[in-house]
Amino acid sequence: MRARPTLALAVCISLLTVCTVAAQDLGPNVHKLKDGVYVYVGSDRPNDAGPESNCGIVITQAGVVLIDTGQTPTASRAIQAAVKKLTSQPIRYVVSTETHGDHHAGDYLFSPPGVFVAHEGTIATLKDREPGDPARVERLRASSPEVRAALEGYHFVLPQIEYREKMTLNVGERTFELFYLKNAHSEADTAVWLPKERVLFSASVAVNNQFNVLRPWVDIPDILAATKMLKALSPEFVIPGHGAPGTVKIFEDQEQFYALLVDRVAKMVKDGKSLDQIKKELQMPEYDKWMTKDRIPANIDAAYNLVAARLVFKSN
Ligand SMILES: [Zn+2]
Repeated sequence: MRARPTLALAVCISLLTVCTVAAQDLGPNVHKLKDGVYVYVGSDRPNDAGPESNCGIVITQAGVVLIDTGQTPTASRAIQAAVKKLTSQPIRYVVSTETHGDHHAGDYLFSPPGVFVAHEGTIATLKDREPGDPARVERLRASSPEVRAALEGYHFVLPQIEYREKMTLNVGERTFELFYLKNAHSEADTAVWLPKERVLFSASVAVNNQFNVLRPWVDIPDILAATKMLKALSPEFVIPGHGAPGTVKIFEDQEQFYALLVDRVAKMVKDGKSLDQIKKELQMPEYDKWMTKDRIPANIDAAYNLVAARLVFKSN
């Protein structure tokens, strides 16, 4: 009779040890959001470059769904190692949230076997990236021995499925709703929503604690329409394209920033200032702590375009 509690205790201790070791083994970047739902949070980069991209790891009874594949081949290898520790199940799907290379570094590690899903326009954009620059991978290989090792088995991968506007993936017991976000960041942006778990991978329509990259086709009203739609889902967790996971506050912070930016640019336009003058003089001290300050001029461009469009609209 006395042996039982001892045995039970021994089992408990060994389970506890296993669990603790397993949690530590996932590495400092991997955070658990819910049972089976993890995020690999991109590491901070030097020189105000902001953090690397985030990657979602969702375990289902029918295999793993990855949301993006990492910023660099070494980050992608860390993601691969974490997945292997979490489950012996294969990768079933790789969902891409945008076309930019900093979310695609590990596509070759996960697809195949993962079926690569992205919004329409992704194939055309990715084809431009590598066949258009055949030396890209050689440059990467030459950058460090670690990257060279991480690139072993590299092959160029394109999506097998391109969807339009909305797609639902049912994988095992989980549901993934894919939403297209128009003019939000890249040529084809996808938010991934897990309605049962209330976890939202927002893509780079939102980034946390930093200024976003706004390319010429990106439109502030479209960003705001997308974040309004995403907020209405009432997510418990929001995982932005870059930066720490959080809540809808990430969207609200961004909305406040654009409102203030557009307001200030509008006042300066009213005062007769040129775009160049605005870029030199505009101050946003409320956001001194945000990273990637070199992106402020492109944000001013977008705000200026919006203000100019409103003036044209008024005068018509
Ligand atoms: Zn991007």
